[in-house]
Amino acid sequence: MKIGPYKIYSIETSEFRLDGGAMFGIIPKTLWEKKIPSDDFNRIPMVTRSLLLVSKNKKILVDTGNGTKWSEKLKHIYNINTDRYNIQSELSKLDIKPEDITDVICTHLHFDHVGGNTSIINGKIQPTFENAKYWISQNNWTLANNPTQKDQSSFMSHDWNTLQENGMIHLVKNKEQFLDGIDFQLTFGHTSGLLHPIISDNNNTLFFGSDLFPTSAHIPIPWVMAYDINPVKTVKEKLELLPKMVEDNWIIFLEHDQNIQACSVKQEGKHFLLNKVISINE
Ligand SMILES: [Zn+2]
Repeated sequence: MKIGPYKIYSIETSEFRLDGGAMFGIIPKTLWEKKIPSDDFNRIPMVTRSLLLVSKNKKILVDTGNGTKWSEKLKHIYNINTDRYNIQSELSKLDIKPEDITDVICTHLHFDHVGGNTSIINGKIQPTFENAKYWISQNNWTLANNPTQKDQSSFMSHDWNTLQENGMIHLVKNKEQFLDGIDFQLTFGHTSGLLHPIISDNNNTLFFGSDLFPTSAHIPIPWVMAYDINPVKTVKEKLELLPKMVEDNWIIFLEHDQNIQACSVKQEGKHFLLNKVISINE
């Protein structure tokens, strides 16, 4: 798919699982398991999926997935698998080397979004993309470095410490645009200052759903994660965004949906639903 100056690719970077109850908050299991069946440990299968934007001068990644710095214990708990595919293998299929990446937009600093920011190279944690600027919202940076007891296990500072030491972190304040042709929306329900890139031209608008719309099952308003720091705010933010998404036929990029890269949405009465499955790579 091409939008504006960018050729756009969807890249899957890991498989993993999280507790289905935590993923769907107050929604009863009898309902959510019809959408995504759980395993014997009540976990649902998901992926991490990044967006790659390629223009004449830029190769931009949005989020980097779980990465590969995992202890056997945590790998087992989250069922993380990067053997079938990972960010390096998928980039190399497109003939792109890690050093070619010019920018990494981090939607927020939860480990399943920025784990691939850094890698263990020669026994040491180092930046995966040595020439990249890493963009993070000021709000999320502040929270990640001083998290609450509720969300502290979602942040792992080894995903960004070495970037900070090397002067590679660039903080985005308020609504200032930081990359050509990429607009963004900040949301505050899932975590403070979640940065959603929006790429648009006259024909298409693509909204990076991140953890506001992690899977297609999370389109209906009350289907909100228990992980959210402020689920009431998430509901309000979905209510504000979804009518506009329907009206202007936006494409929502789904970072964690096992099967669907992106979709459009429709409204039936008060309810918002998946409209059309969209394949980014066609
Ligand atoms: Zn998150």
